[in-house]
Amino acid sequence: KFLSFEGIDGCGKSTQAKRLAAHLTTAGQEVVLTREPGGSPGAEAIRQLLLTGATDKWSAETELLLFTAARRDHLERTITPALSAGKMVICDRFADSTRVYQGATRGDLRGKVDQLHSAMIGREPDLTLIIDVDPEIALTRGLARNSGEDRFEDFGLPFQQHLRAGFLALAAQYPQRCRIIDGNRSPEAIFTDVLALATS
Ligand code: C5P
Repeated sequence: KFLSFEGIDGCGKSTQAKRLAAHLTTAGQEVVLTREPGGSPGAEAIRQLLLTGATDKWSAETELLLFTAARRDHLERTITPALSAGKMVICDRFADSTRVYQGATRGDLRGKVDQLHSAMIGREPDLTLIIDVDPEIALTRGLARNSGEDRFEDFGLPFQQHLRAGFLALAAQYPQRCRIIDGNRSPEAIFTDVLALATS
C-alpha cells in the first residue's frame, strides 16, 4: 500500500508520518518512510538544488521540471521497488504538493503539472491523508522550526491560506483516495485518526 501525507508547511504531517511508520514497524509490518522532494540519492541531490538559493534562480516551468525529475527518480529507485517487495510506503508529500505548490504558486501551471504527471509519473497513492490546519497555527509552527535555509518557508499568511484552499480542492477532486484530518488538535488526537484511516 502506498500512502501519502499532504498539507501546508507546519501542519504536522512529518510528525504523523514518522509516528505511523514507527507504529506499523513495531506491529511487524515492513514499512518504507520517505519524503519529497527527495527520497532517493538522485532526488535528494535535486532537493538540495531546489531548497537553497534565490527564488528567481529558475522560471516556474524549470522548477516544475526539477520537482518532476526528482519524483521520477524517487518512484523508480525507492517507491516502486518497495511496493513490488510488498512493503508499505509512507511518503511525506507526493504529487499533490506539486499540484498545489507548482500548480498555483508562480503562475497557473496546473495544466502542465497534470501533463507531466501523466507522462512521467502515472501513479497516485492508494490513500492520501491531508492534515488540514488553520494557516495561522501552521505558520507559527513553521516559523518556529524555520532554519532559514529553506527558501520555500518564507511564504506569508495569505499565501498559506491559498495553499490550504488548494489542498481542500484536491480532496474534493480525488475523493476516493483523499481523506481530510483536522490538524488543529493535539498530535495524539490527530494520530488516532491517522491510524484508523491508514489501517482500514
Ligand atoms: O515538507 P517539507 O517542509 O520538507 O517541504 C520542503 C519545502 O518545499 C516546503 O517549504 C514546501 O513548501 C516546499 N515544496 C514546494 N513544492 C513541492 C514540495 C515542497 O514548494 N512540490
